[in-house]
Amino acid sequence: MEKVRTRFAPSPTGFMHIGNLRTALYGYLFAKKNNGQFILRIEDTDLERYVEGAIDVIYNTLKEANIVWDEGPDKDGGFGPYVQTERKDIYLKYAKELIDKKAAYYCFCDKERLDSLTNETGIKRYDKHCLHLSKEEVEERLARGDKYVIRQNMPTEGYTEFDDMVYGHVSVPNSELEDQILIKSDGLPTYNFANVIDDHLMQITHVMRGNEYLSSTPKYNLLYDAFGWEHPKYIHLTPIMKDATRKLSKRYGDANFDDFIQKGYLPQAIINYIALLGWSPKGEQEKFTMDELIEKFSISGLSHSSCIFDPDKMKWLNGEYIKELPFDEFMKHAIPFFEQSEIKGKYDYQKLGKLLQTRIEIFSEIPEKVNFLAHFSKIDPELYNNKKFKLNGTVAKGVLETSLPYFEQLNDWTEDKLHETILAIANKLETKSGQVYTALRIAFTGVAVTPGGSVEMADILGKEETLIRLKKAIEWL
Ligand code: GLU
Repeated sequence: MEKVRTRFAPSPTGFMHIGNLRTALYGYLFAKKNNGQFILRIEDTDLERYVEGAIDVIYNTLKEANIVWDEGPDKDGGFGPYVQTERKDIYLKYAKELIDKKAAYYCFCDKERLDSLTNETGIKRYDKHCLHLSKEEVEERLARGDKYVIRQNMPTEGYTEFDDMVYGHVSVPNSELEDQILIKSDGLPTYNFANVIDDHLMQITHVMRGNEYLSSTPKYNLLYDAFGWEHPKYIHLTPIMKDATRKLSKRYGDANFDDFIQKGYLPQAIINYIALLGWSPKGEQEKFTMDELIEKFSISGLSHSSCIFDPDKMKWLNGEYIKELPFDEFMKHAIPFFEQSEIKGKYDYQKLGKLLQTRIEIFSEIPEKVNFLAHFSKIDPELYNNKKFKLNGTVAKGVLETSLPYFEQLNDWTEDKLHETILAIANKLETKSGQVYTALRIAFTGVAVTPGGSVEMADILGKEETLIRLKKAIEWL
């Protein structure tokens, strides 16, 4: 079998949509699975859409996502340049070859004329007017410097057909194919032309891309045919949906890789989740390393219907990845979120981190999980009610009053000693330790749910703050 070569061909728009990243991922997985090569090509011929710094966004995203390209603008594999605006002359040369073959032609029609071409159904379609210009007239107008585009000369009868590896057999009546522009008036190619030239010259064997290009693919195949080139194999991917009817799109916000990173998702969790969004491995496994994805990936597992993006599922998966991080690594991600919280600079982040690593699904949950520490106001006695530990406001008051001197006398403020102290208090009160732990936890924090028990809370607050709170809590009962 020929060597598999796939490519990811993003346009530098300034952000990486989750759908684009999935396309990149599948192209990468398929290439690696087949010991092939994965090529990065920048499709920047639409100058109006160009955004400063956008190429760096592409590089950084792929690097963070651990999608490694074998060839690209910064890694010449002998098929460059890999940035389309640097290939301008190449496209022009091939467009002229098509003109010679009568598969394309110069068009000088101005906007006014084009605007007047709306047919009875409201569809604008070019009427091949300039196809019929004489050779002399074309040469004269070119010499005069008239503005022109180059259009593809489509057949008007018959069908163009091809087999897509996901969508199966696709057949389009040629009468529906417009004479699309190949070279624009600024001399740059359209996507419709550049993708064919580049995929051929870069020896791409499998074209993987979004299904929005499926219906145009017959036009591309006609170009391949006109040149006498072999078609690549096509793998059009089904869309990712926001819900049953709407596609997940940048218009709805929050589908950008960077936004997820900002919210505290881990790149490997995002990759793992989107790998499964449109591809199913055999079996029940849900967590995959990149190497496992490469090993398991197959075109036959690609979904034939659209799939719905499930934010809760991705969040859950992210939580699983967070739990497995080495603690140092966890803290590296967590610290910026502690810094954004109301306890910024107070309390020990490491101690809180130990409690939170198993309790959060995304790092941005950290502030909401720790902000309670920054507040302490009158505790409603009802908060102490707890059937299991036979606890209520009155019982709690007794527990807290008995506890106060024990804590005042405790100088070695460590978790072990705090535990011992609480057991001693329970002993003295002849009650279950659970009752004492619970009453104290509420007294120290003033909230019902905390990421850790009374010992951890007292340890984090420190002796001085704990005693202040304990006294206040007694006063409020
Ligand atoms: N530049 C196109 C896009 O960003 C690439 C489509 C393709 O992969 O051929 O949508």
